[in-house]
Amino acid sequence: MRESTFREQGGLCAYCMSKLSGSVAADDQDPAAGGMKIEHFAARHAQNTGRNRMFDWQNLLGVCPGDTAGPRRPKEARFHCDNYRGNAPLGANPAGPPPASELFRYTNAGEIRASQLASSAAQLNIDALNLNHPRLKSNRKAVIERTRKILKKHGWKRAVLEKYRRLATARDQDGCLQEFCGAIAYYLDKKIRADV
Ligand SMILES: [Zn+2]
Repeated sequence: MRESTFREQGGLCAYCMSKLSGSVAADDQDPAAGGMKIEHFAARHAQNTGRNRMFDWQNLLGVCPGDTAGPRRPKEARFHCDNYRGNAPLGANPAGPPPASELFRYTNAGEIRASQLASSAAQLNIDALNLNHPRLKSNRKAVIERTRKILKKHGWKRAVLEKYRRLATARDQDGCLQEFCGAIAYYLDKKIRADV
């Protein structure tokens, strides 16, 4: 089950889009060892109406261990994703419609924000999962910056923007997606719209 979820999600955490270090089960006692956890979205959703969707494929999410430091750091500085959330409800299923990429927008500093579309649901996810954890922000900033440098080198040509936009959400030969591809795609879409 973990292996299928890992492949379906292109090797990225369904919540923060960090690269999962593999499909083995994460160990809560040793989160630094990596691996992934399986979340049952509907089972924990605030507005779950009771139908047992525990085994509905759409509701199985592979997520990262979400623990970045030693035990003495405050919760906000240490945890994100499932490990931060506890039992807090989520507003939107990252694997369900509308596509997660339409729920969020990103600043060049790597911050994730809710888009106009379904903004309260997206904001609930950002808050419940601590998606603006400093490490996630700086990692997103780094991928946006890397993309910006490539485009600058090519003189911001329309054809190059479109090529990198296609590559942003393409899978590699192992079926994996680029880390934080949602932030890269958002950045490129913004540049393409500004270029018309
Ligand atoms: Zn994550």
